[in-house]
Amino acid sequence: RARVSARVAAIAESATLAVDAKAKALKAAGRPVIGFGAGEPDFPTPDYVVEAAVRAAHDPVNHRYSPAAGLPVLREAIAAKTLRDSGYEVRPADVLVTNGGKQAVFQAFAAILDPGDEVLLPAPYWTTYPEAIRLTGAEPVEVFAGVDQGYLVTVEQLEAARTPRTKALLFNSPSNPTGAVYSPEQTEEIGRWALEHGIWVITDEIYEHLTYDDAVFTPIVRVVPELADTTIVLNGVAKTYAMTGWRVGWMIAPSDVIKAATNLQSHLTSNVANVSQRAAVAALTGDLSAVETMRTAFDRRRRTMVGMLEQIDGVRCPAPQGAFYAYPSVEGVLGRTIRGVTPTTSAELASLILDEVEVAVVPGEAFGPSGYLRLSYALGDDDLAEGVGRIQSLLAEAT
Ligand code: PLP
Repeated sequence: RARVSARVAAIAESATLAVDAKAKALKAAGRPVIGFGAGEPDFPTPDYVVEAAVRAAHDPVNHRYSPAAGLPVLREAIAAKTLRDSGYEVRPADVLVTNGGKQAVFQAFAAILDPGDEVLLPAPYWTTYPEAIRLTGAEPVEVFAGVDQGYLVTVEQLEAARTPRTKALLFNSPSNPTGAVYSPEQTEEIGRWALEHGIWVITDEIYEHLTYDDAVFTPIVRVVPELADTTIVLNGVAKTYAMTGWRVGWMIAPSDVIKAATNLQSHLTSNVANVSQRAAVAALTGDLSAVETMRTAFDRRRRTMVGMLEQIDGVRCPAPQGAFYAYPSVEGVLGRTIRGVTPTTSAELASLILDEVEVAVVPGEAFGPSGYLRLSYALGDDDLAEGVGRIQSLLAEAT
């Protein structure tokens, strides 16, 4: 018999973490590597959040187990924040605090999926979704939207992929990896379609505060309120408040789903670290000025990156409208020869870029079809310009 179970053996390593690890290892070995792989802000967590955590660490009440579903004060803060940012009411009892948004992703799928169910997964998708879906025995059904349609799927495409087994739709706007943001009209159309067909919506809103130009984040439950009974909202403090290391996320769902997910979590991890939860309370009850400062920096870097990528022959990069990733199509570069190598996939191109100019990018294969690269612009302005500059010079050699 196999030593590792088939279910777990089927899980692929997180490609984004792998690229980041390789870049960090090269850097530690003294190489001047520039990494566009990581999905995290380069800013420190705001001071007032850190100070709340320090105070919490000194309070013995936080040295003990606390309710698995989260500290009541944090669940209340999440409900209040949802009203503030998304414009609709949720009960604190329908909020479950999780160990990062990632645990909310797993628990959302685990709570509603059975073997044989299908989940419509717009692609390019964040690399964790298909693994989390498959772990439940359900199947992800990819619905691809490429650069030509701005990485936004249409209701027609979703309808064509719908079968009697379709249980849920994964919706992620602003998107990791593409930075695409659905308009209010598109969001409502998709929400109405899901409602009409009794399809659950799992909406990952973790990049809600990071939008640019005229784009706005649209909470799907605000535009289709009747969806509340069949929607799971996923969110967290990681991206908004530069708190990736603190591990605080949450899910908001109807009571039966929250109850099921809480039971699961009570055996899996119990409560999230109390000190982190107290830090999250400070983040969510504070104002959004620190977020705006970071967003302005991301916006500036976004413009620099997109401008430089667009200058490369064979690369097409529509300006991303949200999150902190650019997702250029590199189809026009594949099949051409660079320093004696002829990459035919984006994975091969990403390897070539790392080997030749020591710049780490994540290939499209991590998020769906080949033909794309993901570059995070959540890094310092100088490194960003230097790194994209190296890619420019390398690809200029293509013949
Ligand atoms: N959802 C999306 C789309 C993400 O990109 C991430 C992080 O990369 C998460 C959820 C989870 O973030 P965390 O577990 O750090 O809260």
